[in-house]
Amino acid sequence: MGVPENIVVGSHVWVGDPEVIWIGGQVLSINGEDAEIQISDERKVVSHLSKLYPKDIDARADGVDDMTKLAYLHEPAVLHNLETRFAMNEIYTYTGNILIAINPFQSLSHLYDTNVMQRYKGSMIGDLSPHVFAIAEGAYREMMNEVKSNSILVSGESGAGKTETTKMLMQYLAYLGGHTASEGRTVEKQVLESNPVLEAFGNAKTVRNDNSSRFGKFVEIQFDKFGRISGAAIRTYLLEKSRVCQISDPERNYHCFYLICASPPEEKEKYKLGDPKSFHYLNQSNCYELVGVNAAQDYLSTKRAMDIVGISQDEQDAIFRVVAAILHLGNINFSKSEETDFAVLEEEESKFHLQTTAELLMCDAHALEDALCKRMMVTPEEIIKRSLDPLGATVSRDGLAKTIYSRLFDWLVQKINISIGQDPSSKCLIGVLDIYGFESFQTNSFEQFCINFTNEKLQQHFNQHVFKMEQEEYTKEGIDWSYLEFVDNQDVLDLIEKKPGGIIALLDEACMFPKSTHETFSQKLYQTFKDHKRFIKPKLTRSDFTVSHYAGDVQYQSEHFLDKNKDYVVPEHQEMLSSSKCSFVSGLFPPLSEESAKSSKFSSIGSRFKLQLQQLMDTLNLTEPHYIRCVKPNTQLKPFIFEHMNVIQQLRSGGVLEAVRIKCAGFPTHWTFHDFITRLWILAPEILRGNFDEKDSCKKILEKIGLTGYQIGETKIFLRAGQMSELDARRALL
Ligand code: ATP
Ligand code: MG
Repeated sequence: MGVPENIVVGSHVWVGDPEVIWIGGQVLSINGEDAEIQISDERKVVSHLSKLYPKDIDARADGVDDMTKLAYLHEPAVLHNLETRFAMNEIYTYTGNILIAINPFQSLSHLYDTNVMQRYKGSMIGDLSPHVFAIAEGAYREMMNEVKSNSILVSGESGAGKTETTKMLMQYLAYLGGHTASEGRTVEKQVLESNPVLEAFGNAKTVRNDNSSRFGKFVEIQFDKFGRISGAAIRTYLLEKSRVCQISDPERNYHCFYLICASPPEEKEKYKLGDPKSFHYLNQSNCYELVGVNAAQDYLSTKRAMDIVGISQDEQDAIFRVVAAILHLGNINFSKSEETDFAVLEEEESKFHLQTTAELLMCDAHALEDALCKRMMVTPEEIIKRSLDPLGATVSRDGLAKTIYSRLFDWLVQKINISIGQDPSSKCLIGVLDIYGFESFQTNSFEQFCINFTNEKLQQHFNQHVFKMEQEEYTKEGIDWSYLEFVDNQDVLDLIEKKPGGIIALLDEACMFPKSTHETFSQKLYQTFKDHKRFIKPKLTRSDFTVSHYAGDVQYQSEHFLDKNKDYVVPEHQEMLSSSKCSFVSGLFPPLSEESAKSSKFSSIGSRFKLQLQQLMDTLNLTEPHYIRCVKPNTQLKPFIFEHMNVIQQLRSGGVLEAVRIKCAGFPTHWTFHDFITRLWILAPEILRGNFDEKDSCKKILEKIGLTGYQIGETKIFLRAGQMSELDARRALL
């Protein structure tokens, strides 16, 4: 963002502050490159001139609903504007076409009722206050008018409100495209009810969010030529499997496990369930209940939602049987047999849980025990069964639990898709993307790597779009835009996904080579990317690596990269489950073809994810995108608290500030002739005399002041960064 050119004694400025990041003050004196600034009666600070940003004292006390209306567009002004609005419960603000949504952490139901939907129907962006409905309305109108698919990309960090926003978008689209006359299970009802079903199985409480989605989701809503919803398809990305068998306090496992423990007594008895505290997969954490949630009621409402999306009673029974089986499976413990080191079932209780798991999955208890404790070894001469030690058996058990659960989740998604149905004649769709935002934690593993890869892809798409929109506006106004510079993150994308030679390709190579370890993998990365601008070998570690993402550097720990990249179902598990007497269970594990059973080639999660992501990008590229950036105002998840540092970081990593930067690189300040004159006529009062032409008068003001580099469009004045403050400074001197 530009260095302020016109800071003089008396100027109002924003100066960096360790606590609130930006604080307002007034320049008392200037000494060479330094300015002394009065912050308050008691406080003065000295700052380098280049670190100051001009503060607009004419800014409206209640803020502006679109950042592009700010006289000075820069980080402190953006932050201040959001904070001002948030304090008045105005949680939505535009930056051009991008909607920024700040999570209020309190119910603002008056914002979303049918009356509000009615008001937004038929409105244009900017007619009414910023809102998710306005974005959905815009997408729908554009689709109808131009017969073009649209998409709405919702992003933000965990707990920022993506899923809630997505649901409101879907609600509004269902309102616009609903079949008002028909009763019962309409397509739109099914689309809406798919949310609670997927949330029960794919959401969990984490430290960041009580209802955190542990998967990414793209919902494609199809419309017929009358604009009515005629079908839908849901695609999901990377469910966090490890949570099924490993959680830490105060997080929880997937909601469905607690729901089933709160099912009516006859069902609990059928599934042999009791207190959630008695299950290893749940009692690794002390958190069992969620504030404001009644699990027994939610169990019933999840089943009702399942009815609506077309999951039959028998299927529901089988689904919950599998969920219960996983809980019992987790309670099977192993110890060393007396004579050998081999794993045997630990005590009576483990036998009970083994028996119950087998009954619920409708497979043979011996086969289950064998599948958990033994592995086949194929040698050229014979096939031998080798027993695992207790640790090996436990790993095998957890692997089985994860595999079953992820197949169950995929089944649900597929079932919902089949039951809602696709409309092959639909020409237009609106896609809604609810996907994990950029992550940078203390430890970052393969999951963060994939998530951040996703965000790099989306960021590129976003930058290209914002850039294109700017160009279009300039073209419309007949303004030269050749200087607009486009910063691309293609270099990071190449580092990650280039074939051959990118990180994912090298990881796959490592996974295929039996002797690889995470250390040899990291060595290979260090060698290959020695001179890559976006790759850093951190000091003091032997296997970490750092990627310079657009949103900041992230240091990854490579320890589990190889394991986590291998999608592998143990053949013994596969065989046991595909021979289940329950067709639902065996259906989750269709027999492998001869060829793939024999193939020693592993299936790479990274490469498959890359492909999925590419397909998503291809879909998005055919649509007209709309962006919603969700922001989490504080980490306490409480209303009314606005943490500056936190918000700034999210605006940076969400690309909002990048959009601002792109605007600043061109002509960030666009004023209509009329507004320009209203603000600045005082610089040349003579223009008001005689024949008055707005465009002409603007020119006269600018010429009189001797400003250069600005442009005059058809309806607006386009100023470079800092020029408005220059004009204001001149005004202040009068
Ligand atoms: P994750 O990435 O963890 O899935 P998310 O961005 O999807 O996070 P949400 O689950 O949508 O976050 O929101 C977290 C919580 O914030 C919600 O459960 C709800 O309590 C609150 N919330 C979000 N948006 C709103 C809103 N517009 N009005 C009221 N409360 C909201
Ligand atoms: Mg979510």
